[in-house]
Amino acid sequence: MFTLRICRIGSHKTVNFAVVELARYLKKIDSRLPIDRTLRQGYDEDNSLYLYVGLSDKVAYNKHKDEIFIDVNNGVGIITAANERGVLIAVYRFLRELGCRFIRPGEDGDIIPKRRLTAADLTVSVHETPSVKDRIICIEGCPIYEHVQNVIDWIPKNGMNGYYIQYNNPIFYPERWYTHTYDEHSVPEPYSSEDSAGYKAMLDEELAKRSLVYYAVGHGWTHFPFGIETVVKSEDDPRLTEEYKSYLAEINGVRGFYQGAHFKTQLCYSNPKVREIITDAAVKYAKEHPEVDLLRFALGDGFNNYCECESCRKMRPADHLMIILNELDEKLTREGLDVRVSFPIYVDLIWPPEKVKLKNPARFYQNLSPSSRTYSKPLYELDRDPDSIELPPYVQNKLTIPSDTETLIAFYKKWQEWTGCECIIYDYHLFWDHFLDVGYTEISKLIHKDATGLSRLNFVGYTSCQPQSCSFPTGLPMYVMAHGFWNKDSVFEDVTKEYYEAAFGERAEEVEGYLTELSRLFNRAFIRNDVTPCHKAVTDRMEAAIRLIDETEAAHLWNVGDEADSFKYLYYHGEYMKRYAKLVLLAAKPDTEAFEAAKKELMEYHFANQAELHTVLDGFSWARVYNTMLSKLFANEPENNPDFL
Ligand SMILES: [Zn+2]
Repeated sequence: MFTLRICRIGSHKTVNFAVVELARYLKKIDSRLPIDRTLRQGYDEDNSLYLYVGLSDKVAYNKHKDEIFIDVNNGVGIITAANERGVLIAVYRFLRELGCRFIRPGEDGDIIPKRRLTAADLTVSVHETPSVKDRIICIEGCPIYEHVQNVIDWIPKNGMNGYYIQYNNPIFYPERWYTHTYDEHSVPEPYSSEDSAGYKAMLDEELAKRSLVYYAVGHGWTHFPFGIETVVKSEDDPRLTEEYKSYLAEINGVRGFYQGAHFKTQLCYSNPKVREIITDAAVKYAKEHPEVDLLRFALGDGFNNYCECESCRKMRPADHLMIILNELDEKLTREGLDVRVSFPIYVDLIWPPEKVKLKNPARFYQNLSPSSRTYSKPLYELDRDPDSIELPPYVQNKLTIPSDTETLIAFYKKWQEWTGCECIIYDYHLFWDHFLDVGYTEISKLIHKDATGLSRLNFVGYTSCQPQSCSFPTGLPMYVMAHGFWNKDSVFEDVTKEYYEAAFGERAEEVEGYLTELSRLFNRAFIRNDVTPCHKAVTDRMEAAIRLIDETEAAHLWNVGDEADSFKYLYYHGEYMKRYAKLVLLAAKPDTEAFEAAKKELMEYHFANQAELHTVLDGFSWARVYNTMLSKLFANEPENNPDFL
C-alpha cells in the first residue's frame, strides 16, 4: 500500500500552512489516501522516502521573486521555491497539475477531481518564475471579513502574491455593507471604527500566514494623522479644530472640505507644519508595521482641488509631492527603515514635476493609476506614438484628465524620465467597467492582454482595484488576469478553455457561446455611452437577449450536477439580465414612468437575492454602477445611428 510521506522543511508558519493545505486537498481528491507527516531542518536529496515541502538549495532565496521548483516522482521528491510564499504557491501549482482548479474566491470555487491516487499519479515537474513581480488585489466595494478572506485565500492558489489594504483603518469598505446605501428596504446597522480595526487585524493575520506581499494605506495621509479617521458628518464635529481647518487647501479664497468629503480634500502642502505632521505619521506607521512591504503614499482622493494660496501656487502638485517624499525619505533613512514607498501618477498628479527632483529614487515606486483611461482597448495597443504627443498644459484646478491611453502613457513616460523610479500600475478593469460587459467575455480578453503586456511599459507590478466579490456570472476575468501575470506568453483561448471546462464540465462550449453572445448583444460601448444607437438596434438586441436567456433556461442548461454552483450563478445572472434588457429597451423610449418602474424591479430583484449571491456579486458596487450608467442612458436618449450595428 502506498503511503504519502510529507516531510516539512523547517518551521516557518507559511511552509507549515502549505503542508496543511497540501494534505487537505489531497484528502479531498482521495479521502482514503494514507498521508504521514514528519519534519526535518533541511532537504536531503538522497532520501527517497519523502515528498519534501519547504525552502531548499534547489532555488536561491529571493524575497521578491516567486520562482517555484517542483520535482516529484511517484510521490517522492520536492516542492520548493525562492521564498516561503513561493512554497505555498508551488503547493497549489502541484495540486493544479493534479487537476484541481480554483475558479473563484470562496469554497464553492474549488473544483476538485475525486479519484483514487496512486504513487504514479503524484508525478509533477515544474520550474517557473512569474512574469510579473508584484501581483496584487486591492480592497474595494463593500466587503465584510468573509469576502476579503476569500480573496486572500484565492490569491496564491492562482499564482498571485499580494494584497493591498487601503487606509490606516479601512472602515469605508465594511461600513458600506451595513449602511445599505442603495437598498431602500434595509435600515443602516451599527459599525464602528473599532469593528474595522479588528477586521483589519484579523486580515493581517491571514496575510502573514501566507507571507503575502503587503501593500498598505494609500489615501488617508491627509486626514488620519490629524485625528480624523471616520467620516465627518457635521461642521460641529469636535475633531475639526481651528488648527486643522487652517491646514486645508484654500480654493476660491476659502479653506474647507472639498465637496464635503474629508478624504477628497487636499491640504496646504507648502505649509511646513502640514508636511511635518504627514511625514511623521508615515514614519510612525512604518515603524509600527514592519509587516508592510510597500507603504503607499497618496494625497487627497479628489481632483482640481489643490491649494490656491500664494505659496502653493508657485509649484505644481507633483513638485509639492516630491518635496514631501524627499522629507519622508530622509526621516525613514534616519530611523533605519528600508520600507519601499509608492506614489501615484493620478488625476492632477499626471502632470509631472518641473522643479523638484526625487533625491533617492531607489526608495520609491512610481505608480500609474489611470482612473480616466478607456477600457475599449488594451493599454499597450497604441494608435499613436506617445513621444509624438504634445501634452496638454497644466492649468491649476482647471484640468481635464485625458482618457486616451496614448496621452496617459506619454505623461507616464515623462514621469519616468524625471524620477528614474521602478514602475507599477494600479488599474481598474474590475472596478466598474466589468459590469458593463455582462457576459464577462470581452473584459476578460482585455484584462488578459493588459496583464501579459505589463513588461512592455516597464511595469514590475499590477494592483487590481476591485470589489472582492467579482465572479458574476463567472470568475473568468480574475482567472485570466492571474494566469496572464504568471506567464506573459499564456494564450487567452487556452486559459479560457481551462476555465470553462472546470466550471461547466461538458457544457463548457455551450456556456461560453451563450455568454459571448450576451456580451455582444449588450454592446458595452453603448452602455457606457461611447455610441448612441438607433432605437431599432437597441430593441432588436434586447429582445434577442431576452429570447436567448429564455431559450437557454428552457433547454435546462443550468440543471447540472457537479458544477452546480457555477450553473446556479448562471441562472441568477440570466434572471438579472432579462430585467436589465427590459430596462435598456425602455431607455430607448421616452417613457420615464415605465423606465423608473423597471429600474425599481431590477433593484428589488438585486437586493432580494443578495443572500444567495454576495460571495460573487458586490451589491454596493453593482448598484452604484447601474444607477449611474442607467441614468446616463436615459438622459442621452439614443438617436438614429445606423453605425451602431
Ligand atoms: Zn497652500
